[in-house]
Amino acid sequence: MTRTTCPYCGVGCGLAVTEGVPMGDKAHPANFGRLCSKGAALKDTLALPDRLTTPMVRGREASWDDALPLIASEFLRIRETDGPDAIAFYVSGQFLTEDYYVANKLMKGFIGSGNIDTNSRLCMSSSVAGHMRAFGEDVVPGCYEDLEEADLVVQVGSNMAWCHPVLYQRLMAARDKRGTKIVTIDPRRTSTAETADLHLPIAPGMDVLLFNGLLVRLAETGALDQDWIDNHVSGFDEALDAARRSAPSVEIVAAATDLTPKDVRNFYDLFARTERAVTLYSQGVNQSVSGSDKVNAILNCHLATGRIGRAGMGPFSLTGQPNAMGGREVGGLANQLAAHMMFTPGDIDRVRRFWNAPNMAAQPGLKAIDLFEAVADGRVKAVWIAATNPADTMPRAARVREALAKCPLVIVSDAWPTDTTALADIVLPAAGWAEKDGTVTNSERCISRQRVFRASPGEARPDWWMFAQVARRMGWENAFAYRGPADIFREHAALSAFENDGTRVFDIGALADLDDAAYNALAPVQWPCPRPGHGRTGPRLFARGGFPTPDGRARMLPLSVKTEMAQDDYPLTLNTGRVRDQWHTMTRTGRVAHLMG
Ligand code: SF4
Repeated sequence: MTRTTCPYCGVGCGLAVTEGVPMGDKAHPANFGRLCSKGAALKDTLALPDRLTTPMVRGREASWDDALPLIASEFLRIRETDGPDAIAFYVSGQFLTEDYYVANKLMKGFIGSGNIDTNSRLCMSSSVAGHMRAFGEDVVPGCYEDLEEADLVVQVGSNMAWCHPVLYQRLMAARDKRGTKIVTIDPRRTSTAETADLHLPIAPGMDVLLFNGLLVRLAETGALDQDWIDNHVSGFDEALDAARRSAPSVEIVAAATDLTPKDVRNFYDLFARTERAVTLYSQGVNQSVSGSDKVNAILNCHLATGRIGRAGMGPFSLTGQPNAMGGREVGGLANQLAAHMMFTPGDIDRVRRFWNAPNMAAQPGLKAIDLFEAVADGRVKAVWIAATNPADTMPRAARVREALAKCPLVIVSDAWPTDTTALADIVLPAAGWAEKDGTVTNSERCISRQRVFRASPGEARPDWWMFAQVARRMGWENAFAYRGPADIFREHAALSAFENDGTRVFDIGALADLDDAAYNALAPVQWPCPRPGHGRTGPRLFARGGFPTPDGRARMLPLSVKTEMAQDDYPLTLNTGRVRDQWHTMTRTGRVAHLMG
């Protein structure tokens, strides 16, 4: 039996594979044996036809020995003639942490640009920004058990029943036992909303106003935790003043959000009187021009009531992809370095010394939207797209397709053909989910192993191997001489602990010395897990403050309300959603007849 992890969503369910058939792993702390319809159908996706099995260079079959030196020499040439910022990587929350680590190291430490971003940008970068503004670091303070120990669960912009089904099942089971009250805030009446005690069909984009109003109501009704605010929070007065300006009364909030005053008051009073409250949020909050403000509006209410880091309470961002969290840990976003370090002079120098990097990037690179704009206008002359399909998934996808069509060098690594591989000069065959070894991190900071249980077809190879091979051919043999994912993971863990005196919460130093056998056998483990005596641990964080900010306090933010509603020239307001049994652009699940049915 092989223990591994489901590749579809941020719940991160464990699988036990026997004779090639994945079943729910009863021992995994995310799912305790449960699976949703997609996870249960994984066995039907293992042998899908049309796999990419050999490198292709400009439409012709090639060998790795043709493709890799060509990529390396082109990168060196472009770097020489146009500078490092003329090269970009666009990677994926489907990457394993080890894939991410190597790609990020190559771009930010050796090519010398910040130009690596991930499709997780479209999924949860608003939560990253919100966490960093409030807590000083991108940290989810709670764990899945909080959903089972809460008396109130507020779901904001989250159709959990379809998008995080196993976690939703856990919540429903807990509700049967303890009578958890559930409030769903969503413009659509989703399956999730139908089972809520109260559904607030909010006008699109009005979440900041609704939560500003909640903050005002908490202050009016004596529901604030003044001691906690005094000891652990800065910015409270400014945040409350701003909230009062935009949301002075329930009636004004109700009118602006298209809700009834009765429903708004019910929600506010339920939140005010229920200490064990968890606020879950997902793409309806994140995918928005004011996504980060929406996150901070939610965090403000939890900080003002001290409901954070204790059993059954806290704000909780649900990540979309299986390893969106792992990407955040290693700097998969263009504005981060690695191991939760940022582009500050101290962090740049620290990472440079750890990597012995010859060309350390000194500033953030292009974020996803800007990256493809730079491809379109010719500033980026070579782009490597890995494990993602931006020709379909990016906003203004037609413009992305046009940009790729005229880019001098497009490299795409993937397991199956997509609309993006069709636009590539060089296609690299990637090992698929069941063929890859490494780690992923789910929404509750739990690191799980993904293990191989099928051989790769043809010439398919893991993504980390491709990036390392190109790096070695660019002249950085020693820095990328990894024998396998265990070597990469040890380096990643050591970097998290490097000169970390407890100031960075992300510390997995206790895992830096795992030998290969221990890495292979690694059971699910939640971070932080520093070397003994070197920092905090635990499934919940910040109950007693100690935020990774210069003064140790969390920051409440004054938030104004920006309109997202349709303008005269754009009379429709559209919203995104997910189809329950399908994954992303349906490149896998769309081929399974009963899921399509
Ligand atoms: Fe996979 Fe998510 Fe379903 Fe779990 S809930 S089986 S991780 S898709």
